[in-house]
Amino acid sequence: MSEVFKGSFTQQEPIPDAGIEAAIAVMKSGRLHRYNLTGDDPGEVALLEREFAEAMGARYCLAVASGGYALACALRAVGVKPGDPVLTNAFTLAPVPGAIASVGAVPVFVGVTEGLVIDLDDLAAKAGEARVLMLSHMRGHLADMDRLMEICRAHGITVIEDCAHTMGARWRGRLSGRDGVIGCYSTQTYKHLNSGEGGFLITDDAEIAARAVVLSGSYMLYGRHLAAPGPEVFEQVKYETPNMSGRMDNLRAAILRPQLARLEAQCAAWTTRYRVVEEGLRGTPGLTVVERPEEERFVGSSIQFLLLDWAEDRIKAVLRRCAARGVELKWFGGAEPVGFTSRYDSWRYAPSSPMPESDRILRSILDMRLPLTFSLEDCALIARIIRAEVGAVFQGQ
Ligand SMILES: *Cc1c(COP(=O)(O)O)cnc(C)c1O
Repeated sequence: MSEVFKGSFTQQEPIPDAGIEAAIAVMKSGRLHRYNLTGDDPGEVALLEREFAEAMGARYCLAVASGGYALACALRAVGVKPGDPVLTNAFTLAPVPGAIASVGAVPVFVGVTEGLVIDLDDLAAKAGEARVLMLSHMRGHLADMDRLMEICRAHGITVIEDCAHTMGARWRGRLSGRDGVIGCYSTQTYKHLNSGEGGFLITDDAEIAARAVVLSGSYMLYGRHLAAPGPEVFEQVKYETPNMSGRMDNLRAAILRPQLARLEAQCAAWTTRYRVVEEGLRGTPGLTVVERPEEERFVGSSIQFLLLDWAEDRIKAVLRRCAARGVELKWFGGAEPVGFTSRYDSWRYAPSSPMPESDRILRSILDMRLPLTFSLEDCALIARIIRAEVGAVFQGQ
């Protein structure tokens, strides 16, 4: 009898009790809107912003309605205008080019390497084409951030980091989101903090922070923020910055604060699970493990492996056979996007020249989430199943 995995790849952990209690208190108060406060109560959102800024070592933080909103808000805050080209990853999720399109700007896609990071040679080649890079640390893989920043500095490129999968990760000790002028995060259910929907934006730049706060829909209540610049900075931007409502509310902030307090431990738990799957897959014939650079301290909330140069029908056979044993793999190489597996040539509103080397990588990527509800034994079992099924198809059984 072959083993079958019975767990759910979409099952998250419950919200911690402290978050549930804080959420109930907010609901009992009826004061869910972030600026609907009494007396000297700073409110859950302002407190969360201060705590997140502190956790990331940033001067300013703004909590918003979603990660995608944070990305679009960041583009507006650095002055991207309709028609401007914006460099971004060919391998990322749809909300990233979507955020660029939402401000009327034009994505210019940069290729992906076998390490699943942005191709820095391709970035250097295209660096003259745009003044902004929206860098997506897709699936938690960090590029060589030293070289990347060197390229961008040399070309005067402003870097916005999409840290939806790297909250808590580091490159050579530096927290992800701190190299660019803005770091953006998501607190949507599948990310490292879970409030259903939500996001953050952090920066050390006072004027960018002030613009983002007004953009998010602060009206003239920015004085109630605890992680925003002083009123003198708002004086310069408040008349020329539109209100594009995208605030976070006190209910979500209440749920997030206790989760933020345990972020480090959660990140370590993800990476322990990742290492178990990685070890189990290593040495499987025909399967390429994505080697992680020593400089990277990643958060293993998902894992990818490559079936390089495999024919489409054989990859489909692996997907089918693994699914039959309870292991749900997502494939970024299918002719049609399924679920979230679209890629640069799926986004037809943003045409790109073909990138054959990237296409070869994209065709080979298999992807799997590792929710914290999986035990280490679950992870070992999942790896055994993938190993057996990849091996069977590879050997033509
Ligand atoms: C989830 C995600 C986003 C967008 O976040 P939302 O909160 O869902 O809007 C952006 N980039 C990547 C890579 C993501 O995975």
